[in-house]
Amino acid sequence: MGGGRRPRNTEERILKTIAIVLILLGSGLLVMSLFPAREIVRQVHQKNRAAWQLLGALIILFLAGYVVYGGYLLRHPAAVHDVIAATIMLGGGIFVAGVVAATRRSIVLVRELAEKERFRALHDELTGLPNRMLLQDRLDHAILMAKRMREPMAVVFMDLDRFKEINDTLGHHYGDYLLQEVAARFRGAVRATDTLARLGGDEFAVILPGVDTVQAAKVAMKLAAALDRPFSVEGHSLSVGVSAGIAVYPEHGDDSELLMQRADVAMYVAKRNDIVYALYHPDEDQSSVNRLILVGQLREAIAGSGLLLHYQPKISLRDGSLCGVEALIRWQHQSRGLIPPDEFIPIAEQAGLIRPLSHWVIDHALAQNASWRRHGYRMPVSVNLSVKNLQDTNFPDVLFDLLNRWNASPDDLVLEITESTMMTDPARVQHVLDRLVRAGLKLSIDDYGTGYSSLAYLRRFPALEIKIDKSFVLDMITNEDNAVIVRSTIDMIHTIGRQVVAEGVEDDATLARLEELGCDCLQGYHICRPLPAEEIEKWLATTSWQVKRLSSPHSCDRK
Ligand code: C2E
Ligand code: CA
Ligand code: CA
Repeated sequence: MGGGRRPRNTEERILKTIAIVLILLGSGLLVMSLFPAREIVRQVHQKNRAAWQLLGALIILFLAGYVVYGGYLLRHPAAVHDVIAATIMLGGGIFVAGVVAATRRSIVLVRELAEKERFRALHDELTGLPNRMLLQDRLDHAILMAKRMREPMAVVFMDLDRFKEINDTLGHHYGDYLLQEVAARFRGAVRATDTLARLGGDEFAVILPGVDTVQAAKVAMKLAAALDRPFSVEGHSLSVGVSAGIAVYPEHGDDSELLMQRADVAMYVAKRNDIVYALYHPDEDQSSVNRLILVGQLREAIAGSGLLLHYQPKISLRDGSLCGVEALIRWQHQSRGLIPPDEFIPIAEQAGLIRPLSHWVIDHALAQNASWRRHGYRMPVSVNLSVKNLQDTNFPDVLFDLLNRWNASPDDLVLEITESTMMTDPARVQHVLDRLVRAGLKLSIDDYGTGYSSLAYLRRFPALEIKIDKSFVLDMITNEDNAVIVRSTIDMIHTIGRQVVAEGVEDDATLARLEELGCDCLQGYHICRPLPAEEIEKWLATTSWQVKRLSSPHSCDRK
């Protein structure tokens, strides 16, 4: 008998087990559709107490269900078929509901993701401001509105001043932080209805609906004033300025591209003239295009060929000896011929090319100096530095590397810095100069008399020599005022124990007068014009000035 019951028992047990599994599956799906398992796990991970409690309650519910339902089925095996049918239907229903709910959730998620993606495509990640693409779109819209309302509208382009130096010297971390702070200040200076955008780098733009040229100029001043207060970044007090260019609809154009291009042109005008803002003017267009072409060509010349150095001798009036040569840069342009430095140095400074340009000059000047040393001539070479070099805290390291490369001693190089250089950002400049002077480099203060430095201030600078600007020397024979200035300058400089160099000596009478006044050194066309190195060598062979010869090829180590 017992043997007859066994198969039925086994079948019932299998049915019961299937029933229980289905019931649990169905309940599981129900719970998951109510509260996604992933969310529970996430909450549990985040140690959320409510989630723990919910998880506990669910486990207890499952266990209780299992015990009660399982017990009931074990006691009433006949009900198994009905339970299976009911469970399949219930489970199926719940499953479908679950799938529908999950699909809806995925659709919401995909939509959210697409929304985020769209935001990212139209905004700048660093500042959260609209980017160039969104600006263009908003500008199109603003022009349409302005047309319909018969109102003006303005677009202002802005480029930060001094940002590149901060970014280059202190690093991107500071640069990024500063850009975020600048964006916040700009945002506070414009209305909520204006679109402020970051175009990339340190360039921003703002669209001003309903605004004419006069009002746009006021907004530009307000934006500049927003940067007046220095920024405090990790203990550093940093200050940046802004140059703004304004183009207005309908005067300067009626499509977005033209307005943006013209605001950009105006911005360059502001930058070049060192003013806060400039309104677009058609005359500037061509010069700005030429300038952009020139910047590109200059960059290529620094990296390739086209730049050259001329050298101008400097002689000592004490013993008639040659004290050195000044390296003066020239640019041999493909179509424009020889361009003088006064025309392209300011462009290099504005376009951020002065660092590579100065490195090129120092490298080539030291190469030439090494070649002269090999031929037995001791000719220290003076190079002209820009204020940007002295604000660059890396500059001394670059310079030391170049001295090492050419096996040059600090005595082989003189650094000419203008009087005005010393006055800009004196603390920073002083720090860089201190490092150079400690390494034994000699400084020469150029264009003396054209700036505002006091003698007390000069005394603090460890300069070897001071060069009186040629504007006082050129006509000192005929212009008594200038003669007085030259005489008193020589006396003053001697009282602080420095040497005086007079530049711009064009004739014998000036030379004789300077000798009388006790000037130490001379430079000028009367002695020799700036010449290419080969011609300087010819001059050395024929001149009556005394050229110092080295007893053996010079190879000093840096002190
Ligand atoms: P600077 O440093 O005052 O150079 C002296 C300028 O006076 C040179 O003009 C030189 O040719 C000119 N000069 C020399 N003797 C006489 C003279 O007897 N009479 C007259 N009328 N002029 C004389 P240059 O070569 O055109 O250079 C102009 C300026 O460009 C330089 O003035 C300097 O400030 C800048 N410069 C030249 N080379 C470099 C460079 O490598 N780097 C930088 N940053 N600036 C440079
Ligand atoms: Ca000079
Ligand atoms: Ca000078």
